[in-house]
Amino acid sequence: MVDAITKAASDMAGASLLMIPNEPATALAESLLAATPGTGERRVWFGHSGSDANDAAMRVASAATGRGRFISFIGSYHGCLAGSMSISGHTAMTHSLPRPGLVLLPYPDAYRAKFSADDVLALLDYQFETTCPPEQVAAIFIEPILSDGGLIVPPDGFLKALQERCRKHGILVVLDEVKVGLGRSGKLHAYQHDGLEPDMIVFGKGLGGGLPISAIIGPAAILDHAPAFAMQTTAGNPVCTAAGQAVLDTIIGENLAAHAAAMGAKLSAGFAELAERHEIIGDVRGRGLALGVDLVTSRETRAPVAAVTTAKVIYRAYELGANFLYVGLAANVLEITPPLNVSAAEIEEGLDIIDRALADVARGIVSDASVQAFMNW
Ligand SMILES: *Cc1c(COP(=O)(O)O)cnc(C)c1O
Repeated sequence: MVDAITKAASDMAGASLLMIPNEPATALAESLLAATPGTGERRVWFGHSGSDANDAAMRVASAATGRGRFISFIGSYHGCLAGSMSISGHTAMTHSLPRPGLVLLPYPDAYRAKFSADDVLALLDYQFETTCPPEQVAAIFIEPILSDGGLIVPPDGFLKALQERCRKHGILVVLDEVKVGLGRSGKLHAYQHDGLEPDMIVFGKGLGGGLPISAIIGPAAILDHAPAFAMQTTAGNPVCTAAGQAVLDTIIGENLAAHAAAMGAKLSAGFAELAERHEIIGDVRGRGLALGVDLVTSRETRAPVAAVTTAKVIYRAYELGANFLYVGLAANVLEITPPLNVSAAEIEEGLDIIDRALADVARGIVSDASVQAFMNW
């Protein structure tokens, strides 16, 4: 990455893609297309963040279909800009109103099975029959693993059934791969676990290796629908796209998806072992290096722990040297998403730290006051 960025910085680094093509952007677009199955004429759009990419995907889906409504999931997170926030369904974001006409579906959760996959599909059918005529819906936004909503892996066949229903009505299927895409799930694209064929795919987060870049892949007929629907002066700049190229080449060249699968297996085996000592661990789930550790007050009732307990585990682990976040509608799930190049030794060290953090919190050595300032999500 350093070499790629350095080279790009000395050649047209400030050129705007709106005015003149630059080689790193063109090359990265070609590489993303080559790495992503699809047919027909396709295009790549570049932005700066997962949020702006989802905003652009919404705008173009709406413009190209002439429809103004969207479907997304309770617990989903698609970003923090006006559009992407308005289709997000996270409890932490109820400060803002959802977009008018949005339909939020429950995401079927095998561990706390309030709604089965069939329930959700029946609910969607009912929406279509009644207050949400499908011909009003531009697109459905899907996270292939519901991440901020609690690292929930969809039941087999659910997303495919959803895709079939939407396709039938000309509703575009947009896969938000921002968090779990590009190798993290153990496959290059997380939607490949479910055999989906999305219309548009959104990439972000890891793509830039820390630099701001996002991308959408979609049909030319949609992404080229009209000019001037998503222009940003510095999007697709040579430095960020060169970084993206280096990252993508490394992920593919070093087969980091396979590494993520192997390290993820080691990590979940490690958590299974921790669960033998720590009653608080109710469930360990995920794919590859996207794991959720669900903390409960009782394994029998599966009741989530209070958010303050999760926050204490996170805070203590941070003090001991491991940095991660919590997710879930009840803020009770440790989100374990280490770098794709994490080593076996680092995983052992991380598990050790979490082991100690869980024990320390159980012993009561972390005060409520120490976590109050940051446990608002
Ligand atoms: C983080 C995230 C986003 C938003 O990306 P930003 O780069 O933070 O704007 C969108 N979708 C998902 C699934 C995410 O995890």
